[in-house]
Amino acid sequence: ECQAQVQAQVNSAPVRPSPNTERSLGKEPASGGYDGKCVFCRIARREEPGTALLPSQYEDLVCFRDIRPGAPHHYLVVPVEHMGNCKTLKSEHVPIVKRMMEVGKSVLQKNNFSDLNDIRMGFHWPPFCSISHLHLHILAPASQLGFLSRLIYRINSYWFITVSVMRFFRGFQLQAENAMSF
Ligand SMILES: [Zn+2]
Ligand SMILES: [Zn+2]
Repeated sequence: ECQAQVQAQVNSAPVRPSPNTERSLGKEPASGGYDGKCVFCRIARREEPGTALLPSQYEDLVCFRDIRPGAPHHYLVVPVEHMGNCKTLKSEHVPIVKRMMEVGKSVLQKNNFSDLNDIRMGFHWPPFCSISHLHLHILAPASQLGFLSRLIYRINSYWFITVSVMRFFRGFQLQAENAMSF
């Protein structure tokens, strides 16, 4: 659903978030809890029968297909608890982001996609996503992204940011750097 929003934003010359946007984003709970108005909170608690949850090896994370896939495989990995968007991530969130990536990789493998060099994982940098609940996009094969998807999920554009670059921006310090090659 956020893809449509992103597309609209991309078409109309993206602008920096206004002070109002910042203020409203700042009101989002940073972590924990349940927001009944948030579609990802409802999906994570199986309150959206139209969205099937895919297997996840972690109880606090869920995975499901993006309703507007930008590639043959397009999954979203989401914490069950409402967490704000990637802008609110700090170094203490490194473990959960790593686990989100693990869930994405296993879902790809369970769906018979094994070339982990040909995948794209990242977050939409606010305000280019309409859903504030933290979600990691998993797309594959990266080499088969269509024109629009290439734009929307362009590596390290200022609206889509891969985990490795976000780590750099946010001062993430990871020891297992080489365990995260993509
Ligand atoms: Zn939520
Ligand atoms: Zn998104």
